[in-house]
Amino acid sequence: MSAAQANNSLDAGLLAELRKIAGDDGVISRATELAVYECDGWTIEKRAPEVLVMPQTTAQVSAVMRALFRGGVAFVPRGAGTGLSGGALPVNAPVMICTSRMNRILSIDLANRRAEVQSGVVNINVTNAVRDRGFFYAPDPSSQPACTIGGNIAENSGGPHTLKYGVTANHVLGVEIVLPDGEVVELGGPSEECCGYDLVGAVCGSEGTTGIVTQATLRLMRAPENHRTMLAVFAGVQDATHAVSATIAAGMIPGAIEMMDGLMIQAIEDAFHVGLPRDAGAVVIIELDGLEAGLDARAAQIADLVRDRGAREVRLARDEAERAALWKARKRAFGAAGRLAPNYATQDGVVPRTRLPDILRVISALSERYQLRIGNVFHAGDGNIHPIILYDEREPDQVRRAIEVGREILKACVEMGGSLTGEHGIGVEKLGEMPLLFSPDDLRVMTELRRVFDPAERSNPGKVIPTPGACVEVAAPRRQVPL
Ligand SMILES: Cc1cc2nc3c(=O)[nH]c(=O)nc-3n(C[C@H](O)[C@H](O)[C@H](O)COP(=O)(O)OP(=O)(O)OC[C@H]3O[C@@H](n4cnc5c(N)ncnc54)[C@H](O)[C@@H]3O)c2cc1C
Repeated sequence: MSAAQANNSLDAGLLAELRKIAGDDGVISRATELAVYECDGWTIEKRAPEVLVMPQTTAQVSAVMRALFRGGVAFVPRGAGTGLSGGALPVNAPVMICTSRMNRILSIDLANRRAEVQSGVVNINVTNAVRDRGFFYAPDPSSQPACTIGGNIAENSGGPHTLKYGVTANHVLGVEIVLPDGEVVELGGPSEECCGYDLVGAVCGSEGTTGIVTQATLRLMRAPENHRTMLAVFAGVQDATHAVSATIAAGMIPGAIEMMDGLMIQAIEDAFHVGLPRDAGAVVIIELDGLEAGLDARAAQIADLVRDRGAREVRLARDEAERAALWKARKRAFGAAGRLAPNYATQDGVVPRTRLPDILRVISALSERYQLRIGNVFHAGDGNIHPIILYDEREPDQVRRAIEVGREILKACVEMGGSLTGEHGIGVEKLGEMPLLFSPDDLRVMTELRRVFDPAERSNPGKVIPTPGACVEVAAPRRQVPL
């Protein structure tokens, strides 16, 4: 049975069965309560599920999935709903399965540097559980106080420290996943090396289209002995991006290189008063980490290099409090954007690092052409841009322009040899852009791989792979809720 054929009406018997499995407090079916789940961080498109189920164990997830399988009902997995591409939006899927109550860290094995967690564990809680003992979990999306490990796996999330440590897929050793027919399977395992096909890799980034991840074995890392965190201040984004490329071309790979433009500096200062220079056109946070020996020398080398490339000032964080203030500025930047406009859409594209100056020029020109302000906060070291498109959802034409300009930016990324997403996924937002990057044959092979896990395409239908009729047309705004 295809997604189109799936039975998407819920009968009373099925609802009663879901309540029996997850308990009365684990099932929500009242429209007023379901409104909370009508969108994730991609707020342009809103649609609530008919029913929300919140299981607490793998056995409950499996029983829920078996019941849905028997009824041919499609479902959408959800973690914390912080996704920025509409991945957790129900599209032809009446049931939402949310892992927020599956939030237990099951075991920590420091000798083997790994942790076993339920998929609803909030990202930062993994590091919080091992920090005192000198360890950390490396993937650190800026949403890490809220987003879940299951959501991170589904989106293959990154973060500021992706530059040095890699994305989620590099830190997941194994997963337990419940397939859409209710079968529980374990992929990968606790050991560092595995043989055979990389099925964990196939699940990472599959955006909930392969089933529901219920548990994961995560790699833990020894915390670096120390850090040096600098703020380099530039007149504009062009100088700043050239300095980033020059740093990496000189053979230095810091832990993180993050950039914010003038518009975002103003918003962040208004919101958090962390002391960013309001007259700067761009700032770059550069963080080195590792053994204490040699850190000062490397920091001085980078400071000299970026000064040569136009930095008018390089501030070194003098203590942990100053370092934390810089990271607060960066990690809460999206939130600060709320001060600039009633709404914003956070784009996510990738270009080769050396093309950063070009893509920023394109974004600036598009901002003019579409008459929409666009701020920029991004993982400069990875060439992973996050243009923040400001608009007012009460103005339908602004919504249309916000969507259009986002598409143009993505097209330019692909034309420059980049990609449609560095970490936020395809979701519904970028479905229409997939053919820019992939041939019909590529997309067919992806569909075949997906069907190995989900033959009937009932797990998060309408995501990642565009299919005729499944494309979401969001040009006309739906019911909008002012911020
Ligand atoms: C302020 C802010 C900052 C952000 N910064 C970053 C960043 O630096 N880096 C980054 O990568 N992302 C970032 N994001 C995006 C988002 O936080 C990540 O994509 C995150 O991984 C989503 O996790 P979640 O638990 O909220 O998942 P959700 O939004 O609930 O779901 C995301 C996708 O995962 C699927 N899914 C969720 N749980 C499961 C599961 N258990 N099994 C199978 N599929 C599942 C859903 O169906 C959906 O397709 C940011 C978002 C915000 C709002």
